[in-house]
Amino acid sequence: MATVPDAKADFAALVVRWQRLEGRHDLPWQNTQDPYRIWVSEIMLQQTQVATVTRYYDVFIARFPDIHCLAQASLDDVLALWSGLGYYRRAKLLHACAQTIVARFQGEFPREEQALAELPGIGRSTAAAIAAFAFQRRAAILDGNVKRVLARVFALELDTQSSKALHAFWSLAESLLPQSEDMPAYTQGLMDLGATRCLQRQPRCEQCPLQAVCKAKSQGRERALPLAKPKKSLPLRYWVMVWISDGQSILLIRRPEHGIWASMWSLPTIESLPESLIGHLMANPQPDQALIDKLSIMRTMHLLWQQACTQRLDTKRLDTQPIARPIFNVLKSSIKQDARLDWHSYVAQSFTHFRLHAPLLHIRLHRDVTSKEDLQVRDVAQVYGVEDPLVGHHQFLWIQPKDALNLGIPRCLRQLIGASN
Ligand code: SF4
Repeated sequence: MATVPDAKADFAALVVRWQRLEGRHDLPWQNTQDPYRIWVSEIMLQQTQVATVTRYYDVFIARFPDIHCLAQASLDDVLALWSGLGYYRRAKLLHACAQTIVARFQGEFPREEQALAELPGIGRSTAAAIAAFAFQRRAAILDGNVKRVLARVFALELDTQSSKALHAFWSLAESLLPQSEDMPAYTQGLMDLGATRCLQRQPRCEQCPLQAVCKAKSQGRERALPLAKPKKSLPLRYWVMVWISDGQSILLIRRPEHGIWASMWSLPTIESLPESLIGHLMANPQPDQALIDKLSIMRTMHLLWQQACTQRLDTKRLDTQPIARPIFNVLKSSIKQDARLDWHSYVAQSFTHFRLHAPLLHIRLHRDVTSKEDLQVRDVAQVYGVEDPLVGHHQFLWIQPKDALNLGIPRCLRQLIGASN
């Protein structure tokens, strides 16, 4: 096996030189040292690909050109512009962070990465990226792409999930930093390498500036490193999403402040709890018949959807399937007789801790709506099928589907509502 030169000695210089010659220089958030613009881009780039962020970034900056504008905006306006980018908690934290920087630092970003990392939504690696790009600080980034590059160049046999490995990655990343004047090019170079050369499945070693020092390449193990994470199978949760229409408008509900799609607008949902929690609550109920009834409906739903999804039933014909009949009957009996029910379509999405399957229940109200305000509360309570104490705290909105697209709504619902126009 050929001897590989010491990668540590040359690593930063190779990355910096390559970035200046062949890296990316025309992304909308480059060529600036404005920490506000850099910060917005770094938050958008967490969990989201460059091509997608590019479609949102300029619009966001045009609407909120500086930190004061963002801090003064309503959360609704921020969520509306974030709608479709996913991971909506980022938008809430971005908004909270802007307000914190204005209130505590008079709108000036702290320069040190440690102080940045204490702000809402800014972790250690994002803080380092902002500090390096805006202030040329010698601070190491370490996201999934950088870990992959390091694991390959140094042939690290580490389980990337363990805290011991994380510690080793951070130490290595910090030991490789160049002088401060090279920090912007170096930091961008690592990002560019991970995105355009050292790709997860098909690394382009022949075009990589690190090929002469890369141990994985010399050992022919570039596809074997980093060590594969053991696959976790996420539990499934089953909801029913309810599309209530009066022929012109649809009914939206604002999600609670915490949890999935926090504070966003959504179709009303009937949500199943994790089976373990339902079992526990049923076994130890407080003497509250309404709660027991509600849990019983949820458990029925959960079990039925579990079976329905496992058997891959045709959801368009679900009302004719015996397996769904009990749910259908529960819902049908809980709404007015002049509504029409049919199974319309289906939402499936993965979240961090579970996967969601949610068939859509389509309810068309056949009557004149004389008092929409009155209709909102009554109908939602009826659709939920039980008196839900939460219903009273939710905000409702009747809105035409085309106008709903201007609100902060999750991407899967945006597609659904957009397709109905
Ligand atoms: S030589 Fe190949 S495996 Fe090594 S860092 Fe470059 S692209 Fe990745």
